Amino acid sequence: MTTQFLECGSQEEIKKFKPIFDQAVEEAKKIAEKAGVTFFDIVEVRFYTSDEESKEGNGCKWIPNDEAKTAVIKFSRNADLEALTHEVGHSFFHPSPLHERYNEGAQYGEKFCNAFRYALHPDKGKCWMATDGGSYDAHRLIKKCETLPEGKLGDLLAALSKYFADLCEKKRAKICEQKKKGAKDPERILDSEDI
Ligand SMILES: [Zn+2]
Repeated sequence: MTTQFLECGSQEEIKKFKPIFDQAVEEAKKIAEKAGVTFFDIVEVRFYTSDEESKEGNGCKWIPNDEAKTAVIKFSRNADLEALTHEVGHSFFHPSPLHERYNEGAQYGEKFCNAFRYALHPDKGKCWMATDGGSYDAHRLIKKCETLPEGKLGDLLAALSKYFADLCEKKRAKICEQKKKGAKDPERILDSEDI
């Protein structure tokens, strides 16, 4: 799958953003594969138009096409480089059984994407991350991964990947149970993880 990458960007901008994007896609695909999730290929990455920029500010957006199982990333020229990694993370979280469509809280996608960003760019620290306990605060999730065997060995990405895969498996069992019982929703599993 080829990605239309910053078609209106300068060579300099492409050189700046492309390595971050490529690394994030490579690692996100590995996580998706380990968890048995269909990765949403990112078909286009582009800067906001000036109209979008005035509405969206310095942010980044990941926009899925659920039918095609693909996504587009749009972002501000002023966004952090690593914010692109967060957006790529949605391509493994959104199609997973941990998504809110399976009766989980909507905040967990942002938490996992922020933890993914940190795991790929640990040298950037965590100062950019919210500490308010809200959707974008992944401090507890990262701490949890650090206590896992892979995390203790200093491989946070492996720990995050394993934890995500284990949770997906656990949730699939709940979805299976729900179908057997004919219950309205599968049981929630993430709230009790204290992440
Ligand atoms: Zn996000």
